[in-house]
Amino acid sequence: MNVFITGGCGFIGSHLAERLVANGDRVTVLDDLSTGSMDNVSHLVGRPGFQYRIGSALDRPLVSELVDSADVTVHLAAAVGVRLIVENPVHTIETNVGATEAVLAAAAKKQKLVVVASTSEVYGKSTRVPFREDHDLQLGPTSHSRWAYACSKALDEWLSLAYAHEKGVPVIVVRFFNTVGPRQTGRYGMVLPNFARQALRNEPITVYGSGDQSRCFGHVRDAVEGLLRLVQTPTAINEVFNIGSTEETTIRQLAERVRVEAGSTSEIVTVPYAEAYAAGFEDMLRRVPDVSKLEGATGFRPRTPLDEIVRDVVADQRTRLAGETPMRGRPAAAAS
Ligand code: UDP
Repeated sequence: MNVFITGGCGFIGSHLAERLVANGDRVTVLDDLSTGSMDNVSHLVGRPGFQYRIGSALDRPLVSELVDSADVTVHLAAAVGVRLIVENPVHTIETNVGATEAVLAAAAKKQKLVVVASTSEVYGKSTRVPFREDHDLQLGPTSHSRWAYACSKALDEWLSLAYAHEKGVPVIVVRFFNTVGPRQTGRYGMVLPNFARQALRNEPITVYGSGDQSRCFGHVRDAVEGLLRLVQTPTAINEVFNIGSTEETTIRQLAERVRVEAGSTSEIVTVPYAEAYAAGFEDMLRRVPDVSKLEGATGFRPRTPLDEIVRDVVADQRTRLAGETPMRGRPAAAAS
């Protein structure tokens, strides 16, 4: 298989590229290195079948060329991370919608299969847990830039399904729930690498809000497995799938687990949302996927236990911290 990955130097993209190269597939990744990093794929450079291009997924001629030369495009390039989104809503909306449009328009020329990455954020404030793909979405007001991310990804989904129905482009939409693992940086606010880093430095572990909010953390290896199984499943075409773990934890429990795993003396502190993000920030209390659609279609569901995930992430952050030069004050490119 010849696969084109937008955002291929990012966290999920680099794991996907690595898996495909190991399978003997041909992979071309495109990344503008805004949140991705060459460090994530440096071990793949020079391996048979692996190519990379540094450029933007908004560059239509480039995207068109790369979509044309692949069998499948996996579109992961996006503005990600809640902090980035709250701080840069214009960039978020323009990147997320513009890049998806560029990929779909290119795919329409020769009816190439596109996997479009979406997010559990699209369920918004819904309290109807677990979330199923056919549930209503419940977003907050446009005056809160936090919802710009969810809305831009929901529009990406609509655009994908519109291209499918109107222009015959085969698409698969995947809604990733909280996906974590080695190589994820805490720089954009993601909780698990942040906690691991704080614990390893014996600094306060910052739980935002009450810490009673819960999430289900899935291993990036499982996210990649789910995505690749869907690509091989003809009935997945023109459908939307949740991909995530169903093992739920509160954020406070997560902080405690990380502290134990890191052997840390860190204090666990709470930080008001207004301080952590912006005044009026709305968080979701619970976010749990229903993955029966994924399992029904592919026979697979993410099962890596949270203990193993926490172990992997703490070990990864430990390695990164050991590789950093304290004098320079700033961590190595892929860490935060
Ligand atoms: N969070 C936290 N401390 C941090 C970073 C995040 O308590 O240092 C919380 C955040 O408010 C949210 C949860 O952890 O309730 C998950 O945050 P993340 O940004 O990883 O993903 P989200 O679920 O918001 O997409």
